[in-house]
Amino acid sequence: MVADNKQSSLSSQVIAGLILAAILGAASFIPGAFKWILEIAADFYAHLRATSGLPNWSFYALALMSIHNVVYWIAHITKQRGPSVGAYKCDNFLGIKWRWSYFSGQITNLWAYCPQCDTMLVYEEVGSLYDPDRKTLLYCETCGCNRLDHQGDEDYLVQKIRRQIDRKIRTGEWADVVDRTT
Ligand SMILES: [Zn+2]
Repeated sequence: MVADNKQSSLSSQVIAGLILAAILGAASFIPGAFKWILEIAADFYAHLRATSGLPNWSFYALALMSIHNVVYWIAHITKQRGPSVGAYKCDNFLGIKWRWSYFSGQITNLWAYCPQCDTMLVYEEVGSLYDPDRKTLLYCETCGCNRLDHQGDEDYLVQKIRRQIDRKIRTGEWADVVDRTT
């Protein structure tokens, strides 16, 4: 979105430049047109420098409106600078670190990392498909030990963490995590 806006403002600047060049080019074909443009510019400059006989209350009214505008824009800018949910991409659940990204507002690439060395963990499912004691182990190859021993299969574990992230986004708890980690 930001890149799009930058691009559209850049292309509108290019278009404005081209229009100005076209006007100047066309003006150079009309005899005396350039002198006429310069005269208008000089008149306008003189007008800007001239003083006006407006009553003082009108200046106070303008000053008040300016203050109002400045306050409005400061509030607008500071509001935009607050963290967005998109910044919430890492959190600790079940004693290990989980990272993910977002695609079309959905949590994707959710996976576990070692809390000690930050290595991506590998999983192993223990027990057969219909075994009620089936469990998932998350192993760190760098530390050489299991970081999690969790009841249920790997898909259940990932979905369980996904529900926790979803809960924190809805309750607003995510903002505390972002504040803590940044
Ligand atoms: Zn490790």
